[in-house]
Amino acid sequence: MLIFKRTNELQRFLKTTDNEQKTIGFTPTMGALHQGHISLIRQSRKYCQMNVCSIFVNPTQFNDLTDFNKYPKTIERDIEMLHDAGCDVLFLPDVNEVYPTGTALAKPLQFGFIAQTLEGEHRPGHFQGMAQVVERLLKIIKPNKLYMGLKDYQQQLIVAQLIQKLKLSVHLVAAKTVREKDGLAMSSRNVRLSPNDRKLAVQISKTLKQAKRLMQHTDKSIGEIQQLCIDAICNKQGIELEYFEIRNASTLRHPLGKNEKLVALAAVKIGGVRLIDNMLLN
Ligand code: AMP
Repeated sequence: MLIFKRTNELQRFLKTTDNEQKTIGFTPTMGALHQGHISLIRQSRKYCQMNVCSIFVNPTQFNDLTDFNKYPKTIERDIEMLHDAGCDVLFLPDVNEVYPTGTALAKPLQFGFIAQTLEGEHRPGHFQGMAQVVERLLKIIKPNKLYMGLKDYQQQLIVAQLIQKLKLSVHLVAAKTVREKDGLAMSSRNVRLSPNDRKLAVQISKTLKQAKRLMQHTDKSIGEIQQLCIDAICNKQGIELEYFEIRNASTLRHPLGKNEKLVALAAVKIGGVRLIDNMLLN
């Protein structure tokens, strides 16, 4: 695996005649890799001839400085994992390489409701920063396929819009969430959970599964199911609920009925660690 820290060196490498013929699969990450990230690299390897992964903790998408400063960093281990997964290229830039003219947003893209609700409401500025870095990385790497996780459900919907708005010729592949044995969605933040909080965290996926079960096997209304799930989380001491919402899976609008494609999305804080998860319900 080749490692590039400089944008121009990576671009020079990708432009060589040999590489220009190859299908490029790109997986952007913030490091502290786990099997969820590795599943994206594996899918990229299956369908692309050149697999690029980036590790960059993007400062512009953190609205909470403590969260940014505490973001886990395990670069030696990450390199080993990527190497073992058969990744071809790791892009490991610093802030100046990604934002040579500074991190200020020149002309923020407008995504409307889809970026204003849920995470957009609880993490102001997060999606503008995320869109900024994804746009930047796509323009540097020019991949054919972009591998992202459904774990960040709202994020992949916004990236799909970004690709459309900018008329980029990249195909977004949204890959399913990889979970721990007990159901907890893998996340770089999980390592920050104390052993006790780690046990509590299973309540998130348990409640999402409950929502799916209630949706598929009972006559309860969307509102009733949502309330039962909110109660199930709020009854657990140690979990602070930010939101548990059942929404239209494409627009994230409040659904009018069960005939729409639905997704349940949750955000909680446990011991100061913010975790998100979601599940398609029908
Ligand atoms: P992050 O490093 O958290 O920015 O994540 C990088 C990419 O990995 C994003 O597209 C995430 O949606 C995806 N990802 C994170 N966790 C998981 C998971 N448990 N399963 C599958 N993909 C994931």
